[in-house]
Amino acid sequence: MPSYVITEKCDGCKAQDKTACQYICPNDLMTLNRDLMKAFNQETEQCWECYNCVKICPQQAIEVRGYQDFSPLGANVIPMRGTDSIMWTIKFRNGILKRFKFPIRTTAEGSVDPYKGKPEADFANLKKPGYFTTSKPMPVIKK
Ligand code: SF4
Ligand code: SF4
Repeated sequence: MPSYVITEKCDGCKAQDKTACQYICPNDLMTLNRDLMKAFNQETEQCWECYNCVKICPQQAIEVRGYQDFSPLGANVIPMRGTDSIMWTIKFRNGILKRFKFPIRTTAEGSVDPYKGKPEADFANLKKPGYFTTSKPMPVIKK
């Protein structure tokens, strides 16, 4: 089930160039209506419920409709991200609330360099089989 925006809470990330939910969605699904300053999921059937937009939204304005076997009607699962941990609040149909807090990182926020130690990308290699991180060609599998 896709993510959806609670419009009363969304402030359009205060009209920044790109909203937090647009920045984080791996499938480029979130978009902003600049007249209303409200974000929405523009292609709900493509949403794979990864919860990234839910976790990053600074207004807690996004939720995911969980599958019924995972969170039956009336229940919900809300993550709240901190700088070093994430708190999941589980609301059961009968109103019971449970909270679970997990650490999410061992390095300082923003300190990870994903390309550290990797060679500069050689765009000429895009036309060849293989990966940009290695000069070796992909092995050819013979039948
Ligand atoms: S991240 Fe949250 S507040 Fe920002 S535009 Fe998206 S839904 Fe609205
Ligand atoms: S749940 Fe994941 S795939 Fe769906 S809109 Fe949010 S970030 Fe994109």
